[in-house]
Amino acid sequence: MNVKFGSLYRRIPRLEQIPFLIHGFGIRIWEEGDYRNRPEWKDFKLVFLDQIHSNIVQVIDNTSEEKLRGDAMITGLPFLVLIIKTADCLPVLIVDESQKVIAAVHCGWRGTSKRVVHKVIQRMKDHYGSNPGSLLVALGPCIGHECYEIGEDVFQSFKREGLSTEFFLNHPLRPRKYLFDLKGANLSQMVSAGVDEKNVFSTDICTHCHQNLPSYRRDKDEAGRTLSFIGMSF
Ligand SMILES: [Zn+2]
Repeated sequence: MNVKFGSLYRRIPRLEQIPFLIHGFGIRIWEEGDYRNRPEWKDFKLVFLDQIHSNIVQVIDNTSEEKLRGDAMITGLPFLVLIIKTADCLPVLIVDESQKVIAAVHCGWRGTSKRVVHKVIQRMKDHYGSNPGSLLVALGPCIGHECYEIGEDVFQSFKREGLSTEFFLNHPLRPRKYLFDLKGANLSQMVSAGVDEKNVFSTDICTHCHQNLPSYRRDKDEAGRTLSFIGMSF
């Protein structure tokens, strides 16, 4: 799909057209210090979350120094860079072009089972008056369907939450194992929250298959993290 391959981070062409927006999905060697080395971003403050695989959404209305806990951030403030760290989980960046609101979301299987991305879209609507149908959504690199083997526990937790299990395939070789479509499950939640599928842009890259992207499944504690970011200046 329509993705620009920069040297250090990937961008979505449709989002690049927005004059007040910066965004990207970093590769392995893109690190926190690299933001400081860009003179054009010197006015931006970096905002990280203490990510806990939850559905806690932080709405950032003022800039404070405290570290926020949760797995999603939303803001209408300029000069913040919202940063999500992942290694196989799905990073999601959202922008409301007309209301000037942005969000960054960490979607692992746990957050997905707790409908974190659905909750973010609902919050953008309630708190900022966003129209879900006009939101633009960028899905970053995550572990692909064929590579994401999970067990009965994950399958059961989706069932318990009353979520569709259509994104689980029986593993072709291993009994009681499944292959989980993390991206598909999240896309479905967005659409059910009112997002128009034609406004969703995906990098379609599997972290597990690409050596220049961190993959926890492949590299365990050596994996490092992908930094995905979004910010506004105006
Ligand atoms: Zn793969």
